[in-house]
Amino acid sequence: MFDTLSERLGGIFDGLTGRGALSEKDVNAALREIRVALLEADVALPVVKDFIDGVRNRAVGEEVIRSVKPGQQVIKIVYDALVDMLGGEEADTSLRIDSPPAIIMMAGLQGSGKTTTTGKLAKRLSEKDRKRVLLASLDTRRPAAMEQLAILADQCNENVSALPIIEGQLPADIARRALNAAKISGYDVLILDTAGRTTIDEQMMNEVAEIADIATPSETLLVADALTGQDAVETASRFHARLPLTGLVLTRMDGDGRGGAALSMRAVTGLPIKFMGVGEKLDGLDAFDAKRVAGRILGQGDIVSLVEKAAEQMDAEKAERMAEKLRKGEFDLEDMAEQFRQMQRMGGLGGLMGMLPGARKAKAAMESANLDDNVLKRQEAIILSMTRAERRKPAILNASRRKRIAAGAGVTVQEVNKVLKMHQQMAGMMKKMRTKGGMKNMMNMAQ
Ligand code: GDP
Repeated sequence: MFDTLSERLGGIFDGLTGRGALSEKDVNAALREIRVALLEADVALPVVKDFIDGVRNRAVGEEVIRSVKPGQQVIKIVYDALVDMLGGEEADTSLRIDSPPAIIMMAGLQGSGKTTTTGKLAKRLSEKDRKRVLLASLDTRRPAAMEQLAILADQCNENVSALPIIEGQLPADIARRALNAAKISGYDVLILDTAGRTTIDEQMMNEVAEIADIATPSETLLVADALTGQDAVETASRFHARLPLTGLVLTRMDGDGRGGAALSMRAVTGLPIKFMGVGEKLDGLDAFDAKRVAGRILGQGDIVSLVEKAAEQMDAEKAERMAEKLRKGEFDLEDMAEQFRQMQRMGGLGGLMGMLPGARKAKAAMESANLDDNVLKRQEAIILSMTRAERRKPAILNASRRKRIAAGAGVTVQEVNKVLKMHQQMAGMMKKMRTKGGMKNMMNMAQ
């Protein structure tokens, strides 16, 4: 699938020689193919539409990098946007389970993998977080489900137990009994496995909502089967309307599906996807990995390594351009903004600056100026509030221009001045390096 996507994109961009900017026409042609790929991956149509619009805004006007094919560049932009939309590179698997007994409620349709996921989560919490976990099944209509949970608890370890089954008790009463038992026996976490049905019905929703009222869980996770595609999205929005959900778990991500449901569910509910089920066994639960899923949504082929290669080439070319500018003794505010972006991408102070011999002093100066990510973003915002002419020629920045920029970026004039001062220091440092002949060395490192 991916081969055809990249081939199709390649065909569209053959006419583009790798100079200038991506035009709206080229981008639209590419996005038509991306749209088909997303629909084939089972992403819901309205989500596809919004997504494509967002990507178009990002891509049009983007400068074409010489060393990668424009088709690859668009795939990279699409891939980055997918990762963003799926929740970013860092998986948010944090659960609010601080005050014992913390209550986690599991909701979802029958067959979604809810009970299995309850067992997997118990194993994870007991092993990774060293928590003592109590499990309680509220599925009074299916005695087999209650027994299944008890068996899963046995398979975990001595820190996981299941609440003893008392026949004939109502779900609400079991929930109360579980709460008491968790408190009295000093469990850290109580996981309530609520009843599911094969389809959503009012009675089930009322029952689950009642349990939520009684238990006031700190986490309410919806378990959904990734292979059910559009149905999973419908399920998620219906549950979301009735329950204070805090996150999603997508099961059967080890199956053949392309994982488009992940994107749709995330877009429709706005909830983080915390985990994904990747097998029937108890250790088949992974932190949700946006990069892995984004690669899969785009196609089965080796898209991730292709994207990484494209990204490396893009960075290398940017570094080369930067070095070229430095060679000419130019280092303007646009370059500085690019530095800030690189630093953010590399998770802190690094990027080209970190690789340059002799640049350590400037790096130390920036470190002492406490340039964390938020500061970097604010500084970048200040530079983005300038006109292109101002960025290229900071000397023209008089008092009234500085005032306008401060207002545009929502900061004080002092902060604008600080950025300008830092730029002067960096440019001065670059100049010194050039005259000292450190340039050749630096060029080698930058490539
Ligand atoms: P429940 O009715 O929602 O509680 O569903 P179960 O937990 O009983 O799971 C239904 C079936 O799906 C079982 O056979 C599980 O082994 C299987 N299952 C659950 N999660 C996964 C998963 O992530 N991958 C695979 N391959 N199978 C799963």
